Amino acid sequence: MIEPAVYAVNAQNSRGRRIREAAPVGRSEFQRDRDRIIHSTAFRRLEYKTQVFVNHEGDLFRTRLTHSLEVAQIARSVARSLRLNEDLVEAISLAHDLGHTPFGHAGQDALNLCMKPHGGFEHNLQSLRVVDLLEQRYAAFDGLNLCFETREGILKHCSLKHARLLGDLGRRFINRRRPSLEAQLANLADELAYNNHDVDDGLRSGLLTIEQLSEVSLFARHKKLVLVTYPKLDARRLVHETVRRMISTLVVDLTRQTARNIRHHAPQSVDDVRDAPPLVAFSVALEKQQLELKHFLRDHLYRHYQVARMTAKARRVVSELFDAFLSDPRLLPPQYQTSKDAERPRMVADYIAGMTDRYAMREHRRLFAVDEI
Ligand code: MG
Repeated sequence: MIEPAVYAVNAQNSRGRRIREAAPVGRSEFQRDRDRIIHSTAFRRLEYKTQVFVNHEGDLFRTRLTHSLEVAQIARSVARSLRLNEDLVEAISLAHDLGHTPFGHAGQDALNLCMKPHGGFEHNLQSLRVVDLLEQRYAAFDGLNLCFETREGILKHCSLKHARLLGDLGRRFINRRRPSLEAQLANLADELAYNNHDVDDGLRSGLLTIEQLSEVSLFARHKKLVLVTYPKLDARRLVHETVRRMISTLVVDLTRQTARNIRHHAPQSVDDVRDAPPLVAFSVALEKQQLELKHFLRDHLYRHYQVARMTAKARRVVSELFDAFLSDPRLLPPQYQTSKDAERPRMVADYIAGMTDRYAMREHRRLFAVDEI
């Protein structure tokens, strides 16, 4: 096994778990975190949660589960090259989307709007809430009782208002310090994964065309290279060969630029990393190309009228469920009922956020379809 670098998080120096537990046998603390995440209910639900395309629209599109696996794959390979803590990076990557609502960003926006008068809804905070509280399967504690460093990585962003309520975990947002390199890496691997798999899904769905994507320099350059060697390649293989080269270029660039940044700042500990500027980064040139791709996807895929129709419907389902449960709490399953009025909106948000796409649609039908009792 390769020795982790001095700037990597070391399981032996972890800031530990909220509830003390005996050290794991035969695996590291962060392997234990990863294992708990994989065995959680929230993780299994990712299979039926939308990334961009609603799950039932086709069997081959990414879901939040396959997206999370791709993030973990990318983050782990970079982590290994840079001698970071691969187990920690894997745990963060697999957990990063646990708090997502059904129907992707449309669901999150709708729930946030419903929760505005009650403290709002942020999917990052919700992911933390899942691993700290909502998973109820262990005898000795609520949640998964994960290590500080895993929880820190899950909480990518956070408003100052919320940071003040989070104690130790919120402090870095107030003091403007960075999280570990492992957390920074999982964050960029997320972006790298979805920009590229959304190209693939966008083309597969027919909402994007190869001609359109040829406006994007990163895609155009790699497509051209593929066609030089394989001029007669069919469209399906051409897309895969192009996307895999794009991913590979970005991964290599991310690794090299981060190694340069580490050399330049020479952090000797995780604390040095926390005080340094963000060290995990793409080169300026590739960052610009990735941004171009991101803007292209926003304009041509996420705002495509067929996606807009789906998101409008999703928004309606989420907000109608929220209003129905809040105005008549008797409709909620017993474990989400509370006698305290002030707690009710958060309980409703937890219930809705935990739903898969199809469960939300079923609940909506049960509550609103008059021909279904
Ligand atoms: Mg993600």
